[in-house]
Amino acid sequence: MKIALIAHDHKKDSLVEFAIAYKEILSEHELFATGTTGLRMQDEVGLSITRFRSGPLGGDQQIGAMIANNDMDMVIFFRDPLTAQPHEPDVTALVRLCDVYHIPLATNMGTAEILLKGLQEGFVDWRLIQERRQ
Ligand code: PGA
Repeated sequence: MKIALIAHDHKKDSLVEFAIAYKEILSEHELFATGTTGLRMQDEVGLSITRFRSGPLGGDQQIGAMIANNDMDMVIFFRDPLTAQPHEPDVTALVRLCDVYHIPLATNMGTAEILLKGLQEGFVDWRLIQERRQ
């Protein structure tokens, strides 16, 4: 599974703590991240991860492109709901693409935990349901 990890600045500590707690599950998958988030995942968590540009410089859009190419399976995006982001249109576009392509998206730790536990148990069948519809 390909999983994207993104956190806004005020949420980066939270994502680091989460990734340490779920390192065992995360490390079984192919990981991608926006620039600064990815750096912290490498340095502070020890995860191997493909880093894109920083979010405000196009990293969210690079992850969005993977979603549009059917090349991303899950997005964990710890958004900061209390701070205006200069790249808000990119953030909105990424969330929108997750909905367009039915990509599981967690925007907070509670949902992220359930997604990773579901993934571990093999509960992810939505692509099969989608294929049956076509
Ligand atoms: P960053 O980008 O990981 O490079 O900080 C995240 C974002 O703000 O979208």
